[in-house]
Amino acid sequence: MSKEIYLTGDRPTGKLHIGHYIGSLKNRVSMQNSGDYLPFVMIADTQAFTDNARNPEKIRQSLTEVALDYLAVGIDPAKTTIFVQSQIKGLFELTEYFMNLVSVARLQRNPTVKSEIKQKGFDEGIPAGFLTYPVSQAADIAIFRATKVPVGDDQEPMLEQTRELVRSFNNAYKSDVLVEPVGVFPPKGQGRLPGLDGNAKMSKSLNNGIFLSDDADTLVKKVKSMYTDPLHINITDPGHVEGNVVFTYLDIFDPDKKRVQELKDQYTAGGLGDMKIKKHLIDVMEAEMAPIRQRREEFAKDIPAVLDMLQEGSNKANAVAEETMKDVRHVMGLDYF
Ligand code: ATP
Ligand code: MG
Repeated sequence: MSKEIYLTGDRPTGKLHIGHYIGSLKNRVSMQNSGDYLPFVMIADTQAFTDNARNPEKIRQSLTEVALDYLAVGIDPAKTTIFVQSQIKGLFELTEYFMNLVSVARLQRNPTVKSEIKQKGFDEGIPAGFLTYPVSQAADIAIFRATKVPVGDDQEPMLEQTRELVRSFNNAYKSDVLVEPVGVFPPKGQGRLPGLDGNAKMSKSLNNGIFLSDDADTLVKKVKSMYTDPLHINITDPGHVEGNVVFTYLDIFDPDKKRVQELKDQYTAGGLGDMKIKKHLIDVMEAEMAPIRQRREEFAKDIPAVLDMLQEGSNKANAVAEETMKDVRHVMGLDYF
């Protein structure tokens, strides 16, 4: 039996943070190591241009940073094809064909895109490429005939859009050459890690994150700056656990759930200070982050090797994409000669 394909990726708009780690990277590594899948991981530079068109330098720099983050968390190029979106020329072609199978009104309804547009406050109007990025994302998934997509919760609308486009395509050209994917989401409550500032989503673009590459001192500083409970002024005051980022993180990172419950009880009753819970969180997180940081430093010593790895992965991915594009052109009747 042929293995199921999974595809996922990240935009090279900065270094990856622990939201990516919890929301997507961890799932990828365990799926990769299960041996049950054929994994593809894409650095989505083309998509990064949709809201960074005038900042190519940032995208170029972030490309190697993201690749280092992958290697650091254990994405292994021997098992996972790591590639660069812009190098897969068939993607531009399939995106263009998909564009005719979706209405502008449908694109405007996408809730994730809607909130991103609000958050980014585009001064010169919404770039057409930004509004349509879910179409190019659908092409990314469809061209690899991926059935599984390990991502964070914000990606569900993109998967819905992808399934619709795959159905429309197969319908329009009386074919079954493309397949519908499903998302693989993290455990409940971990699909969207809030930012240090209490914002609903830690995001590269909001600069409210703890990065996989942060050193130990930065980790300490960032945890100390975390949003807790604005009403918890004196240690003896009863504190609130809901919406308190320190406890949200403890729920996710501390393997000792009983201890977390005890801390919550104590905090709610009053008598437990913010600094104390923050110190505990620092210990818990440092245990998880230190090995990642060390591996990252090792890989960073040889950037040309990282670029070679990306080129090799892109060549491999291109060959797979071209197979699908042959079928696509055939069912569309484009194989004229
Ligand atoms: P940008 O602000 O440039 O969009 P981002 O931080 O949203 O960056 P992406 O590259 O868009 O990161 O997202 C890559 C993957 O990481 C997606 O699967 C997304 O769902 C997941 N992800 C991003 N942020 C979080 C988060 N805070 N919690 C959980 N998953 C996340
Ligand atoms: Mg994003």
